[in-house]
Amino acid sequence: MNQPVFRFAPSPNGRLHLGHAYSALLNSAFARAFGGRFLLRIEDIDPIRSKPDFEAAIYDDLAWLGLKWENPVLRQSEHFDIYCQALHGLRQRGLVYPCFCSRKTIQNGHVADTATDPDGTPLYRGVCRHLPPEEIEHRLSENARNPDLWPHTWRLALDRAVAAARAADPTSFRYKTFSVDGVCHETTSDPALWGDAVVARRDVPTSYHLSVVLDDWRQGVTHVVRGADLKAATSLHTLLHRLLSISTPIYWHHDLIVDDTGSKLSKSRLSKSLADLRSEGISAAQVKALCRSHNPRLWDALGGL
Ligand code: GLU
Repeated sequence: MNQPVFRFAPSPNGRLHLGHAYSALLNSAFARAFGGRFLLRIEDIDPIRSKPDFEAAIYDDLAWLGLKWENPVLRQSEHFDIYCQALHGLRQRGLVYPCFCSRKTIQNGHVADTATDPDGTPLYRGVCRHLPPEEIEHRLSENARNPDLWPHTWRLALDRAVAAARAADPTSFRYKTFSVDGVCHETTSDPALWGDAVVARRDVPTSYHLSVVLDDWRQGVTHVVRGADLKAATSLHTLLHRLLSISTPIYWHHDLIVDDTGSKLSKSRLSKSLADLRSEGISAAQVKALCRSHNPRLWDALGGL
């Protein structure tokens, strides 16, 4: 069997908090326990929210925790050409279409259903999918001259995409999850929950979903260990794996560390960052003990931190 490959893939749009420490330590512990490799990937596709200072702080915080990762670190902002190429391939197969609707129109419900995707975004009704081809070409060529004229995202034509994936592999939407004893279980996912999902944003030729599946594959990631908040996204990722003819890693979606109010920690809620904890005199050993206390049996099974 090939050597297992694990990764921690933070976005440099804020300071890391305890939840990130938990995820990073867990990936590193799995890599050690399974005799695997541990990679770090910087998911900095968002040109506005990603900041060099946050990226530098990620390296500092992880080193402070005593983590060691392989170099060079993959920075997604350096690989837009790869994402662009994949998007182009999907476009040539008629599996994506440009959507010119603004976020506001979608939020106002003019072109969206009241039903939402697993992230809470209203499901898009596919209005732009039915634009006449000549109108689409006109807008895209105008846009090539002035990118502000017809700002657009690229959306999956979900029913066509699902049909293409099923034609290539009837077991399309199954993926495996693993547990600490190495036993795998099969799960069936449902990409339809995401509707005509955005696979490339207005400002960059990709999205979290497209980049994450391509990079996990390019980096040979075999085991994805990430928060339960990303579990629902796995059904969309499984669909993209089939469409792009790339392998599906095995998943473990770990439970999230919650704050005193029972809410998940997040950078936007300004949960205490690792840097805050450090400046309050908390040691790396204490942070590790906090992570361990969240699920002692798991950490012990992995041979500690
Ligand atoms: N970049 C994502 C985040 O910071 C994690 C992506 C993943 O692990 O798939 O939430």
